[in-house]
Amino acid sequence: MRTDTVIMGGGLSGLTCGIALAKRGQRVTIVASGQSTLLFNGGSMELLGNIDGTPVTYPLETIASLPEGHPYRKIGADRIASLADEAKQLLLDAGINVEGDAAANHWRVTPMGVAKHAWLTLSENLRIDDLKQLPARRLALMCIRGFFDEPNSMLANGLKELGFEVDKHEFTTDEITKLRRSPSEMRAASLAKRLSSNNALQRIADQVNSLAGDADMVLLPSVFGMSDNDSYDILKNMVNKPLRLVATLPPSVAGSRMQAMLRHYFMMLGGNYLMGDSAVKGTLEGDRLTTITTAKLGDMPLRADNFVLATGSFISRGLVADYERVYEPVMGLDVDADKDREQWTRFGVLEPQAYSRYGVTTDATLRCAKQGKTIANLRAIGSVLSGHDTVKMGDGTGVSLLTALAAAHGILSDK
Ligand SMILES: Cc1cc2nc3c(=O)[nH]c(=O)nc-3n(C[C@H](O)[C@H](O)[C@H](O)COP(=O)(O)OP(=O)(O)OC[C@H]3O[C@@H](n4cnc5c(N)ncnc54)[C@H](O)[C@@H]3O)c2cc1C
Repeated sequence: MRTDTVIMGGGLSGLTCGIALAKRGQRVTIVASGQSTLLFNGGSMELLGNIDGTPVTYPLETIASLPEGHPYRKIGADRIASLADEAKQLLLDAGINVEGDAAANHWRVTPMGVAKHAWLTLSENLRIDDLKQLPARRLALMCIRGFFDEPNSMLANGLKELGFEVDKHEFTTDEITKLRRSPSEMRAASLAKRLSSNNALQRIADQVNSLAGDADMVLLPSVFGMSDNDSYDILKNMVNKPLRLVATLPPSVAGSRMQAMLRHYFMMLGGNYLMGDSAVKGTLEGDRLTTITTAKLGDMPLRADNFVLATGSFISRGLVADYERVYEPVMGLDVDADKDREQWTRFGVLEPQAYSRYGVTTDATLRCAKQGKTIANLRAIGSVLSGHDTVKMGDGTGVSLLTALAAAHGILSDK
């Protein structure tokens, strides 16, 4: 099977790159083995949230001071603003309604009620531009009875610490009560599936309208719409006050929806998405990768002019650690990682962990290398790249989106 570009990995970075290429008329195949880390995403994207423990307010101004090995420095600090605009537009084109500006971070609210910096946040979610000018004074926090994925008391306390007045209300509806007969069903995704009909949404709105009192804004957990924005849009019109959602614990409905919408958009553009298949090996001829073999296609390898590695970090098995080494499992590519395993981790979960900066080695054009030799038509993007730290720097989604676009531009300009 021959296409212009084969992308290994169908998470945020793989899909973004695939969309950018398909939009420009390329034939693109994505091999996607499983769920992506978007399932951990509550509806916000980060460009750069922290440097050395200090919160970053103006990411674009700060990027030039990142270490040279950081992916943003590799693709060029001067390109970040335009790539960030392009990424935002791509998300909007896919139907993902995000708001925010790369020039200045805003605040998102975690399920624990903690405010964290973000670049883009879904317009349905609670977003705070300025902690001194909250978007509402009094919040009606609507808690679904028996719901597992929202620590309501912590959330309410966190919101109060941010300066909101919070009235906490518990409610249920017929649909939710039926779901509760099996307590393990009280997860965000199950609720989203059950609460999608107009009748179910109307019953929620009736409860919310009768409880909201003199609140300025109603807050509900983010349990609406696994694959599109319809449920929230309908509910918003049924609720009498401004309605915002708050991220839940993962797996997240908003993250699943973003994944589904990106995949749908990619396929609408003519992209080929091989769901549930894995790249298992690549064949090199000289300095070029010629084919990728997948687990399901077996002796029908995928041929292409260009290849992109978007297989994620350890959590997605884009990187693997055994007792002796950290390695990239598909191609055995060169990896930036400490040789001495004592250096990989530090005791204490809150300590900076060296392993979170590990990833494949690339040059400034994001081309990968094997045994020190650059592979001319293989680029790496997203969290499989070395030199950044999603947890400590709050740069994961930004790196995924911007390196994906930079790689797509590189591939298109190679032609
Ligand atoms: C726990 C956690 C929480 C996070 N929370 C946030 C947040 O709140 N806000 C934020 O902005 N960012 C957050 N991030 C970061 C952000 O989610 C990631 O940086 C970004 O989504 C990574 O996208 P990716 O496509 O590079 O990798 P991934 O999402 O890891 O996707 C890689 C994909 O490749 C597939 N794959 C792996 N190997 C193969 C193979 N051999 N063949 C085919 N497919 C393969 C995997 O199954 C997976 O689907 C979080 C990350 C984690 C891990």
